[in-house]
Amino acid sequence: MKQKIKRRLLAIGWVSAGLTAILTVLVFYSAFEKQVRADLRRDTALICALYEETGEAAFSEAVKENFRVTLISSDGTVLFESDLDAGEMENHLSRPEIREALANGEGEDNRISESISVSTYYCARRLGDGNVLRLACSAKTVFGFFLGAMIPVALMGVFVFLLAALVASILTQKLVAPIEALAKDGNVGEKKAPYPELVPFVEALRFQQEEKEESARIRQEFTANVTHELKTPLTSISGYAEMIENGMAEGETGRTFAGKIRKETRRLLTLIGDIIQLSELDSGTSKGTFVSVSLLETARAVVERLTFFADQKEVSLSASGEEGVILGDREMISELIANLVDNGIRYNRPGGRVDVNVLSKNEKVVLKVSDTGIGIPKAHFDRIFERFYRVDKSRSKESGGTGLGLAIVKHIALSHNGEISLESEEGKGTTITISFPAYSR
Ligand code: ADP
Repeated sequence: MKQKIKRRLLAIGWVSAGLTAILTVLVFYSAFEKQVRADLRRDTALICALYEETGEAAFSEAVKENFRVTLISSDGTVLFESDLDAGEMENHLSRPEIREALANGEGEDNRISESISVSTYYCARRLGDGNVLRLACSAKTVFGFFLGAMIPVALMGVFVFLLAALVASILTQKLVAPIEALAKDGNVGEKKAPYPELVPFVEALRFQQEEKEESARIRQEFTANVTHELKTPLTSISGYAEMIENGMAEGETGRTFAGKIRKETRRLLTLIGDIIQLSELDSGTSKGTFVSVSLLETARAVVERLTFFADQKEVSLSASGEEGVILGDREMISELIANLVDNGIRYNRPGGRVDVNVLSKNEKVVLKVSDTGIGIPKAHFDRIFERFYRVDKSRSKESGGTGLGLAIVKHIALSHNGEISLESEEGKGTTITISFPAYSR
């Protein structure tokens, strides 16, 4: 970009310098030519007056001033000529300035002579005796003018070239420096765009940077949480194992300890499973196979799978409604419904219910999972979809929760263009609704 700007600036410098030179010469030349004609007219009038008084002596006066003098009779015969032999000269009646002088008293012309760089200016006046007196002088033509100005123009060109190169280089540097500075440290932060045209560009950079920082922060937080979550069950497993090792767990106690170890191990396995699933969703490695999926059919399968667990908790399950066909990944959708139903069971009370309902309306398929459980206080609404966020940590852990269930739900819903909404009342129950775009086969 720098090179391009530099080249353009140089070109602009050059073209304007060239145009200026040409225009200047033309303007000067036109003024110069006007002056030559005016001077010649004045001098011709003077010499004519002198001639009328002093006769041929006036000619030597004119020649002294470097004029060529010609005296022509009214029939065109050359009577006197200062530079050439008058006798050998042809009739001059055909010359425009002579004809004009004979007709109007004064005539002018200019003709290019020997070389094209010199032009001869003629001015003729009719005298009292009817003859015509003509004065001529040479002056440079435009071309001659250019030729004469060639060396200074060339010198000026070199000067302009160097100056333009210098100015172009400084200007380019100045123009590009803020952009380079912006790109160099990669930290847009609070920096302002150096030019108004760059505002959208800087905004985009800032947005990108903020997103990057945010995702780095989330990753870091996630790693810290994961480490912590893994450490807790491992510490207790290690503790129970140590007691068994030291012979402190005979008979019934031994069995209790083994049971606790098994529970913690299962928690670890669930946790690891959830982490793997989330990181797969994050990295986009498992984009899934999108096919037409019936939400009702999937919900029924989930309900069937979780019935045993629900029975243990004395919670009854149901799945009802319309077919609700969407475009989705079967496994992911099944996981989403399972996580919601699983929460409905775990945060419930004996005798409670979890109902899954599927409904189609306005090009949307709505999945509703409602329970009659403990509910979620409003203050936590915003955060329960965050990773490892729990309203009641001990209850979650006690019931085998990982704190990742709803984060997975949110991720899957988003990847299926689903919109989540939450309704809940403490002590009464919770309804989570996800509306997907309908898919017609
Ligand atoms: P967890 O594994 O702890 O259940 P989730 O991400 O599934 O993690 O849920 C986050 C938190 O939201 C839970 O710890 C719980 O406090 C609350 N929660 C989720 N679903 C329900 C529900 N149906 N009823 C009451 N509280 C819920």
